Amino acid sequence: MLDTMDYAQVYESAEADGRVISGQLGSWDISSLIMDVQARGLRVEAEMERRTGGAGPTDSGMLWIEGYPVTAPTGNSTSQDSPYLLKAEDDGYGIYRGMLRVASARAERRPRFYDLTTADGISYEKIALLHLDSLASTVVQTCAYWGNADQCTFCGIGVSLESGRTIVKKTPEMLAEVAVAAKELDGAVDATLTTGSSRGVDRGARYVAKCGQAVKEASGLPVEVQFEPPLKLDVINEVGDMGIDSVGIHVETFDPQVLARVAPAKAASGIESYFAAWERAVAVFGEGQVSTYVILGMGEDPEITIAGAKRAIDLGVYPFMVPLKPVAGSLMENWPSPSREYVEPIYRRVQAYMSMRGMDATTAKAGCARCQACSGLASLEPRKNSITPLQITDRQSFLKGNS
Ligand code: SF4
Repeated sequence: MLDTMDYAQVYESAEADGRVISGQLGSWDISSLIMDVQARGLRVEAEMERRTGGAGPTDSGMLWIEGYPVTAPTGNSTSQDSPYLLKAEDDGYGIYRGMLRVASARAERRPRFYDLTTADGISYEKIALLHLDSLASTVVQTCAYWGNADQCTFCGIGVSLESGRTIVKKTPEMLAEVAVAAKELDGAVDATLTTGSSRGVDRGARYVAKCGQAVKEASGLPVEVQFEPPLKLDVINEVGDMGIDSVGIHVETFDPQVLARVAPAKAASGIESYFAAWERAVAVFGEGQVSTYVILGMGEDPEITIAGAKRAIDLGVYPFMVPLKPVAGSLMENWPSPSREYVEPIYRRVQAYMSMRGMDATTAKAGCARCQACSGLASLEPRKNSITPLQITDRQSFLKGNS
């Protein structure tokens, strides 16, 4: 019987010497599988909802693996050599590695609201997208840093716009209309609104919050808004006064040398400006309602990363750690995604610290930290339902037991 095992290593060694793996993966094994699928992608033999281009979960399929929400590269260069294959089954999907069915999966159908249009003829799909059960939109699809020396190298905010898949600016009224439809027709449970940065003192926070307020008032959905640290911290109080539930203020990396290379404008504000903004935001929104993206695999020092994450957790900030998914058309489009072997020890140490501090994936009311699909962190949390642990047997007894 195997408990806290390394799924991929065990699978590979068992396969090499002709043994067979049977039973269901335990929760720890599912975590390793999810991280491996996020790193290596999925070949897809079945139709599923996926997101192409742009920011967020780009060029990714969105599915539930053993009940966990997951975004994973599909239909791109990362996934074409993946050992994992998604197949349609009578009831849902299965993920296969060779002959072995390693997990069950569920994918969402195309959201119904995508086929609606506003009175002036704009497709709802160009206004907001559904990421599994979370409605997401970039309310201003331009950024003061895009196309100049300050552009974040991992970002794809201009890519969707150039492709014609979205519009440059969404109004609060449009977003409110789409949110009501997404909730009623497709079961959206929250809304995540982000924006490109402006050069104003609020960095775009006031407008994205105004959109969030309209969404919340019309649909009743909890809302997260995301923005850069405003030059005046009182702007964060204004966002709170508008009834927003959660905020994302994204440092992207705790390693200052990497930040200077990948996000020059953010580096110029300095990592300490993020800690100052988070402190104010936690005072306004509460512990666990403030989060930051931390992208892994951009050349950062893991120890600096873990130390930064722990400091954020101590403040009440959820460090939403994700592997780099290179966006086609971004300045990092040719970077590789980090391997599971790289991200897993970082996730495990950060998750253990969060657990100790009483923070988990259920804390956030809305946003990326509520959804969790782009990260492997939530899969590491102890699961309520126990699953039959994985067993390895030699091929003969396996065949005998199944004959
Ligand atoms: S600040 Fe945000 S939107 Fe602007 S380039 Fe950086 S990641 Fe993209």
